[in-house]
Amino acid sequence: MKRREAIQQLGWGLSGGILMPSLLGACGPKAPGPEIVFSGKVAIIGAGAAGLYVADILNSKGIKVIIFEARDQVGGRVRSLRNQRVEIYPYAPQLGSDFPIELGAQTIIGNDSIFGRIFKDYNLPTTEFPPTGNRFVIDNQAKSESEWTAGNDADFRAAMDFRTGVRNFVGSSQTVQQAVPAAIQARAYGMLNGQIGNAYGSSNDMIGMGGVAEQETLRQNDGKIIGLKANPLQDILISRFSAIQSFVQLNTPIASIGYGSDPIIITAKDGTKFEANKVVVTVPVSILKNGGLSFTPALPGDFAGSLAKFGMSASLRLILEFKKNFWGDTAGYILGSSNVPEYFSAGLGRSQFNRTLSITVNGNKADQYAALGDDALISAVLTDIDAIYSGQGSQFIRKNLQTLKNIFIRQDWSKEDYILGGYSYPLPGAKNDDRKAISRPVVDKLFFAGEATDITGQAGMLNGALASAERAALEVIAAIKKA
Ligand SMILES: Cc1cc2nc3c(=O)[nH]c(=O)nc-3n(C[C@H](O)[C@H](O)[C@H](O)COP(=O)(O)OP(=O)(O)OC[C@H]3O[C@@H](n4cnc5c(N)ncnc54)[C@H](O)[C@@H]3O)c2cc1C
Repeated sequence: MKRREAIQQLGWGLSGGILMPSLLGACGPKAPGPEIVFSGKVAIIGAGAAGLYVADILNSKGIKVIIFEARDQVGGRVRSLRNQRVEIYPYAPQLGSDFPIELGAQTIIGNDSIFGRIFKDYNLPTTEFPPTGNRFVIDNQAKSESEWTAGNDADFRAAMDFRTGVRNFVGSSQTVQQAVPAAIQARAYGMLNGQIGNAYGSSNDMIGMGGVAEQETLRQNDGKIIGLKANPLQDILISRFSAIQSFVQLNTPIASIGYGSDPIIITAKDGTKFEANKVVVTVPVSILKNGGLSFTPALPGDFAGSLAKFGMSASLRLILEFKKNFWGDTAGYILGSSNVPEYFSAGLGRSQFNRTLSITVNGNKADQYAALGDDALISAVLTDIDAIYSGQGSQFIRKNLQTLKNIFIRQDWSKEDYILGGYSYPLPGAKNDDRKAISRPVVDKLFFAGEATDITGQAGMLNGALASAERAALEVIAAIKKA
């Protein structure tokens, strides 16, 4: 039976928390009881998309859950500006954008994906960002695919063909950059980095071509890029998983998990100890790699070997507003400048004004930018925009009228203690089997979810986090039933 069929048969989804009538009937004359009888408790580490969804599924089956979250709010790398404190983002009240501003995930891939279905079930107004809106930067000129094609630019064509053909690549030891054909000149490297390296969480010279190719082959959805018109993503997580919010213990970073004993002993950073019978770990790979969460006994050797094959680069989000849209009312993503691989016209299809750029920089460039003060960072980005749009970035940037300071929102994900980067990417040599190795249950007590453990080709993405949650929940249920 395929995983999705199994999930449907198990009867969760939007009915989470509500017992199905058929199950009530199956209980006979006795009072209704939980679908799965388990006297123990499942602890979930991390209240991002994956942790919340695992908890929701298990709770809907009648299994007791507790979720430990290091931060003071749920959502993880889904963080909407509206839900944040002004002390941290002082310019937030001065923003004029009339749509939700996202500091992390801002779109989903797949109308028919797990998250896409949540959008539909909740009747949320969405907008699609079509590929025709993309602009590609070569020689500091930003043009659409049809404009470059009309101009017969050979490097553009070859680069686009390479991008489209990534899924057909065979082999796993090269970086994306090493796999770029020699015939493509350096002038097109930026647009390739914007579309592949940066999109996958780092840069073309870091990411493994084989791992990316395999992910693209495995992914099964309609590929449409969808954004919410009016609702912050973090609100959707809170609302969809409202049934388990009361089981989330905030401000509780976990330092170690002793799973050699029964019950398992979970020790928080402040020394407080908790007990559980099974644990689902959903923390980012960066936390697992740097020992921010330790395990006794140590995780199996194949786990550690496969974990080493994934990276998590620095990641920066910068929101800038302008007095006028000089990049074009129909432009969506502007990909390929050598300094700023992705500009996203975040108001497209959802703003009356459409004058906001949401900038995402991953990889070494993000490390460099993270070291800059605010003024130096904005100046570097404006220099980049000015080179493409003839000085209009500096000319039209919105400033506070009293202080004449630029209005901006900045989020350095590598500086977040419990995230430490953007999202997981395959290093050269990494395969989907390595994702399977870091997702495999350990002695039916320890389970793994989170974007990096997705094995459906959606790692690094919100839908990957949710797919991993479905997998991990099934594994926990199977282990309970086996006992
Ligand atoms: C800048 C940026 C842009 C992105 N854009 C997109 C996009 O447009 N579309 C898309 O699909 N995806 C995007 N992503 C990726 C997406 O945000 C993630 O894949 C997804 O949110 C990961 O969910 P998760 O539950 O696996 O992990 P997380 O959301 O990271 O959740 C893990 C949780 O664990 C907590 N934690 C960590 N350590 C501990 C500990 N020791 N004890 C207790 N709790 C702990 C963390 O605080 C966190 O809340 C983006 C990510 C970033 C950073």
